[in-house]
Amino acid sequence: MVYVAAENRYENMKYNRTGRTGLKLPAISLGLWHNFGGINSYENSREMLTRSFDLGITHFDLANNYGPPAGSAEETFGQVLKHDLAAYRDEMIISTKAGYYMWPGPYGEWGSRKNLVASLDQSLKRMGLEYVDIFYSHRFDPETPLEETMMALDHIVRSGKALYVGISSYNAEQTREAARILKELGTPLTIHQPRYSMLDRWIENGLQDTLDDLGAGSIAFCPLEQGVLTSKYLNGVPEDSRAAGSSVFLKQDQIKPETIRKVRALNQLAAARGQSLAQMSLAWVLRHGRLTSALIGASRVSQIEENIVALNNLEFSAEELQRIDTILKS
Ligand code: NDP
Repeated sequence: MVYVAAENRYENMKYNRTGRTGLKLPAISLGLWHNFGGINSYENSREMLTRSFDLGITHFDLANNYGPPAGSAEETFGQVLKHDLAAYRDEMIISTKAGYYMWPGPYGEWGSRKNLVASLDQSLKRMGLEYVDIFYSHRFDPETPLEETMMALDHIVRSGKALYVGISSYNAEQTREAARILKELGTPLTIHQPRYSMLDRWIENGLQDTLDDLGAGSIAFCPLEQGVLTSKYLNGVPEDSRAAGSSVFLKQDQIKPETIRKVRALNQLAAARGQSLAQMSLAWVLRHGRLTSALIGASRVSQIEENIVALNNLEFSAEELQRIDTILKS
């Protein structure tokens, strides 16, 4: 059946400005790290992408290595784009990244110009795109001069293969230096993609202030801690969960009793706010409007539908925030 986007798709989503740039992103974006690979159901991937778009999610985040197998999430996305979403390309912000291991030999990972340019060319082919909207250096490379990595990003924008550039997981100092080099080259740093959730607050220790100062935006990955900050693991590890599956990034033994004790208390607080824990976890990362977007993952459409409702209540009282801090420290 031919997909036609919902007419009311822009009515309920909130769009935030990315730092002090011209780019707006939906408060909730969708990432294709898990559940969109060659091993997953194409039909489910397609439903999640089209339903997201109907809900006003205009931003889809990929990387060269998402799958498994590596590269296959971009292929799946390319297929859905071709068959269902092609007419809406100008309504979408598509990002990809290079930096983690992708192919053998000295050029298949890290931050050399060779890796970044070759990897983006491969990504564009897999997705059937002429350009991506945001291209990221996926991780800081301690061995490549930062000038080279940033010159590669600048070159990529100038060659028309990306509109904006970002960096992921760079610390505050590395971020400031990257932004300085980019500014000199004439391509501003648009966005930073760090990990951020109630269970991982490292960006509060300098990076957020740096980004505010630089006028760059931020999009938090793993805001639900891969599902741990939802009600999913409260009564054990469900068979159809990431922790029970083949992902190497979340294993059963990472679901620790002391974490679940905190999650249970957070779940009660969420219920008192009239939210599910997933919704409160997303509202919390978006609180005070400091973050441009929360980058969620999903394994089924119903999760996306539930998560989007977080936007109906992003406010926290001082007491609620205090209570959350107390639970997290307990
Ligand atoms: P989340 O923390 O949002 O976890 C998503 C997982 O949580 C889902 O796959 C699902 O797991 C579970 N979940 C989601 N909603 C619900 C719900 N309402 N109820 C119960 N369970 C729920 O994010 P991800 O870890 O998936 O990462 C998101 C994105 O961030 C990635 O796709 C990628 O784009 C980006 N990323 C970037 C990185 C970087 O280095 N820059 C690193 C990692 C991610 P289940 O399968 O168990 O149902």
